[in-house]
Amino acid sequence: MGKILFRSTNRQAQPVTFKETLLKGQAPDYGLYVPVEIPKITRQDIKKFSTMPYYEIAFEIVKLFVADDIPESDLYQLCRQAYNFPVPLAKLDRNLYLLYLDKGPTASFKDFAARLMSRMMNYVASKEARKLTVLVATSGDTGGAVADAFFGLENINVVVLFPEKEITVRQRKQMTTLGKNIKAIAVRGTFDDCQALVKRAFNDPALSHLNLTSANSINFGRLLPQSVYYFKAYVEANCDDLVFCVPSGNFGNLMGGVLAREMGLPIKKFIVAVNENDEFPRFLETGIYSPVVPSRKCSSSAMNVGHPSNLARLIDLYGGWLTDERDKDGKVIRKGVMKKAPDLESMRKHFLSFAISEHEVDDTIRKVYQKYSLIIEPHGAVSVAAALKANINEPVCCFETANPAKFAEKIRQILDIEPPVPENLLKLDALEEKYIVIDNDYYQFCEILR
Ligand SMILES: *Cc1c(COP(=O)(O)O)cnc(C)c1O
Repeated sequence: MGKILFRSTNRQAQPVTFKETLLKGQAPDYGLYVPVEIPKITRQDIKKFSTMPYYEIAFEIVKLFVADDIPESDLYQLCRQAYNFPVPLAKLDRNLYLLYLDKGPTASFKDFAARLMSRMMNYVASKEARKLTVLVATSGDTGGAVADAFFGLENINVVVLFPEKEITVRQRKQMTTLGKNIKAIAVRGTFDDCQALVKRAFNDPALSHLNLTSANSINFGRLLPQSVYYFKAYVEANCDDLVFCVPSGNFGNLMGGVLAREMGLPIKKFIVAVNENDEFPRFLETGIYSPVVPSRKCSSSAMNVGHPSNLARLIDLYGGWLTDERDKDGKVIRKGVMKKAPDLESMRKHFLSFAISEHEVDDTIRKVYQKYSLIIEPHGAVSVAAALKANINEPVCCFETANPAKFAEKIRQILDIEPPVPENLLKLDALEEKYIVIDNDYYQFCEILR
């Protein structure tokens, strides 16, 4: 198999190699890069993963896409440095598993992507003697994970935008207490506003001298590492077929799983678990896509997304075309236009989807504590609630994507107990914050970038 190329979902931009998708993030035609073909992993090779440490599984998978853009011995070291924390799988019931993705340095599943992507980017940038500026919009956890992962890297500056009122104090402190090459900006608006500012900046010729690149899940380099834990969960659960129930916001986690499935991992079905931002389950049911604008505020804040950026990739894989309509300056005038319908029949075979209400989240946190003596936080609760709602008599793997201590108020309110705080988060309390507050205004944002 030759080197994998990546094309844009909008089909106007030239295909590029892995290295370029990593540095560019978004395609110049505002589309998302997707692999032109997806390399396969045999059942035989998947079996071998059961005896490997996590970082070796990561290496085996990522190398198929990276090819010679990063020599294998170097990539191996990057994987080894990135994945120095455990990824435990708990069996709650005969047919119910929970994969813990919250054991990284910022206690969120975003660490999985950010820690490897940052290392790959820095590697490529230093080989080419280039300086990059990573621009990232966060609904809470991405910013912290990205800031932590890039902190101190010599060839990369990071600018993080977050919605002033939609994140917790600890989440904010993960971005605002580092300093050095990490700058934090609070926006008086929603996460969607932050994301719109960032997306616009990427395609603004007046900013091209900054070498802006994305660390959001529109970057394929962030997606790819997220396919690895699906393999890990699969070999560890040791079932023939496994259903994954993915708590979803921008659908980056889900696309990691979809990629794993396309590579050959026997994933029977995905349950797409969303909070009250229910655009996807409505779409699956009716075939009509209408984004939730503005996005609804739920306690699973990292999933308060009314128009998931990675949905364009999923629709593309099923033969459709989803894009945003723009004016000549690149400003989005209509979000989420379905230019061509995907194969909805196939999608319905491969995906179930449920929207989980705030009330159901509370119930599930309570139920899981009573039944299994486990504290789960709102994102994990959305996952477990959807798995129970699907009520399928097959092994299902849910995800806990953040540590409950990040949502201590919620846990206190529902369970009347104090979740234990991991050491990495405790350290933050004493640190001093530095950040700028701006309006939801593109020109104000550009001033600061310059
Ligand atoms: C980002 C995030 C999600 C949603 O993941 P997507 O890839 O955006 O779908 C879920 N839970 C937590 C804790 C997150 O930080």
